[in-house]
Amino acid sequence: MPKEIRFLNTATRAVEALQPLDGDHVRLYTCGPTVYNFVHIGNLRTFLFEDVLRRTLKGFGYRVTQVMNLTDIDDKTIRGANAEGISLREFTDRYIAAFFADIDTLRVERAEHYPRATDYVPQMAALVRRLTERGHTYVLDGSTYFRIATFPRYGALSGIDPEQVLAGARVDADEYEKEDVRDFVLWKAAKEGEPYWDTELGRGRPGWHLECSAMSMELLGETFDIHTGGVDNIFPHHENEIAQSEGASGKPFVRVWLHAEHLFVEGQKMAKSLGNFFTLRDLLERGHDPLAIRYLLISVPYRQKLNFTFDGLHAAAAGIERIGNTLRRLTHTPPAGGDGALAVADVEAFERELDAGLADDLNTARALAALHQLLTRVNQALDGAGIVAAARARLDAALTRVDSILGIVPRHERGAVDADVDALIAERVAARRARDFSRADAIRQELTDRGIALEDTPHGTVWRRSS
Ligand SMILES: [Zn+2]
Repeated sequence: MPKEIRFLNTATRAVEALQPLDGDHVRLYTCGPTVYNFVHIGNLRTFLFEDVLRRTLKGFGYRVTQVMNLTDIDDKTIRGANAEGISLREFTDRYIAAFFADIDTLRVERAEHYPRATDYVPQMAALVRRLTERGHTYVLDGSTYFRIATFPRYGALSGIDPEQVLAGARVDADEYEKEDVRDFVLWKAAKEGEPYWDTELGRGRPGWHLECSAMSMELLGETFDIHTGGVDNIFPHHENEIAQSEGASGKPFVRVWLHAEHLFVEGQKMAKSLGNFFTLRDLLERGHDPLAIRYLLISVPYRQKLNFTFDGLHAAAAGIERIGNTLRRLTHTPPAGGDGALAVADVEAFERELDAGLADDLNTARALAALHQLLTRVNQALDGAGIVAAARARLDAALTRVDSILGIVPRHERGAVDADVDALIAERVAARRARDFSRADAIRQELTDRGIALEDTPHGTVWRRSS
């Protein structure tokens, strides 16, 4: 039996326990990137929320089938390819590769499916045919539109009033103004300089919204459990997905809608014109640790606005450092005799708190607070009577589980630096044995200058990076 998890459902505005349609199998659709440039940290915040979501579901005992689409045909990708004078495929291949490289860097687990919109054009045309059969469409100048007046539930997700529909107003762009409810394009007639497909709908290409409805229903079924995205997607994108999917199938499309809030940078909306626009690559070039970026981006629960600051990024790096230092101390400390100073019950209490936080609409802040409390207890135990083997085994399992869900435990790969530090420590031990204290002190000083702190324990010398 999987553990219970509760979510604030955008559609009902209520907190609900997840009840998958198919036992312990959760079918999850996540709106993916439009592959026309490098993803920015606002996009990444949403992708990391979805990563913690999928990892938590798995950690709680659910089976997950996740689909994330790759929008490789829309106004922006066409503009980009034309500007460079290369094919759409060539242009989008580049940004798809960059997207995967970026999410790998941030330890995002791969979804089960990454469909490309251009591989699903027949399914999109078939979906439009079903909508036409049910009276939801009209054709104008070779383009097919969805008539939202035929779908009374339009606006239920976002709270937008469909009465605002301007008679006969429609939009055939993939991008349009918020709060502006209009009939939207399903299939766009071919235009000079744009890629096209010959289908039963005539020569043209799909509108952006249609892509997600066709791919999600093809891969997950007409009704599935969870659909996620950023709050920007609620209207019009998700509203339009619901109209298209339910208009065609006559069935509920999605049970639970989850939306990640906006990211701000130093208190301001991120914008190229303000010079506060960052891709992952920008931050890596400035020397920031991807793990600290991940930590910061998941540290605020997804339903809250996240203010990304460089102070916050330094604090996140210190949090990662603290985890690494504690693990290094543990590795260098043999099990204690006697009772030790950390009980199995302490670790169990941590596990309960971790799960309680995550089960509460993915409260990652609470999960991280629980982890740091545990680290404090572990360090206190190591300073005192140590940790006995049974508690240590339980602790190791708990830390492995934390990493499987939050993905923020530094992997202690022994690189050249470690070997170098170990050699200096060995030399210092030898110097002390030979009562050459000035050499021993010089070595300690050299390590201090390199940001390495030494601790002489009854079990030998342990080092950590000090920040
Ligand atoms: Zn979508």
